[in-house]
Amino acid sequence: MLDIKITLAETLKEKPADESKLGFGKIFTDHMFVMEYDKDYGGTGWHDARIEPYHPFTLDPSCSVLHYAQEVFEGLKAYRTPDNRIQLFRPECNARRYQDSCDRLCIPQIPEEDFVQAVKALVEVDKDWVPHQEGATLYIRPFTFATMPQLGVHASTKYTFCIILSPSGAYYATGLAPVRIYVEDEYIRAAPGLTGFAKCGGNYAASIKSAEIAEALGYSQVLWLDGVEHKYVEEVGSMNIFFKIDGKIYTAPCTGTVLPGVTRRSIIELCKDWGYEVIEDKLAIDDVMKAGHDGKLEEVFGSGTAAVVSPVKELKYEKDVVMIGDGKIGPLTQKLYDTMTGIQWGKIEDTKGWITPVCMG
Ligand SMILES: *Cc1c(COP(=O)(O)O)cnc(C)c1O
Repeated sequence: MLDIKITLAETLKEKPADESKLGFGKIFTDHMFVMEYDKDYGGTGWHDARIEPYHPFTLDPSCSVLHYAQEVFEGLKAYRTPDNRIQLFRPECNARRYQDSCDRLCIPQIPEEDFVQAVKALVEVDKDWVPHQEGATLYIRPFTFATMPQLGVHASTKYTFCIILSPSGAYYATGLAPVRIYVEDEYIRAAPGLTGFAKCGGNYAASIKSAEIAEALGYSQVLWLDGVEHKYVEEVGSMNIFFKIDGKIYTAPCTGTVLPGVTRRSIIELCKDWGYEVIEDKLAIDDVMKAGHDGKLEEVFGSGTAAVVSPVKELKYEKDVVMIGDGKIGPLTQKLYDTMTGIQWGKIEDTKGWITPVCMG
């Protein structure tokens, strides 16, 4: 249990008048959560947990994160229900994954209950920033970075853990919109033994080039293949990916190279509840393209906190292109979207125990 000292901002920022123009991650709330870690501090090494007015950091130019990218992050959301409760979706899963990411990057872990406590405390302080408009949310970004002022390559002895909040607009302004996806056949995102399963900034730094290539060709997302044989589908940008082929649902297994998404896990549970066979196993891109040409590729969708589900209407792999479901949203994709968002916004009863209440709005 953290002892969180709260210092409120003297003047509050003006909140955006039009929540439909929020976009993603562009504006931030009045407060932030911060605590520091020093190896020699005693106890767990973490100290000075506090909520204070949002402010820039002062960093020594030599600090490790700026040179060697020793950093991890998380991403989740706070939702406002129709009866004005503020709630989170499975934050304990993010807390658990954060520990795994920290472990891989040699960053000191934070007890799961402390992580959730810090998120809830900050969201409560800034609860007026949780948007009211349908589909808009308060995006929550916890992160830890290495601050030791030394250029040697080894684990830092000092870190900062911080949480910032960003009111974000509905991902789909005009309803679910299917996207076109570029299958990356040269660059890779992850390989066995590397950091693919960890949510760390370094993974993203290495992915930007492919996103630029895809964008230049008119595709909005990159589908990554496995790093060894460049043969099996793994994930999409910042989403996991699912394929419905001949009635069965396929997604890549979380065996080290794929980010174990909270949305992915929830979707698998729902699909199994609904009687679908879900196969978490290697799936070759050649088989996906063949299924597409044979008319057996019924639905493809990405899954992640930001979009919830993102229907895919087109896949481009080398010179081959397949269209999925005439560019329309598949019935399973739509049902998953409706169910997930229904639970998240408190419009459907949470029979799974996925909701963590924060406070009244
Ligand atoms: C965060 C993330 C996901 C999705 O995870 P969720 O917990 O569902 O938001 C998928 N892939 C990558 C690379 C990610 O960083």
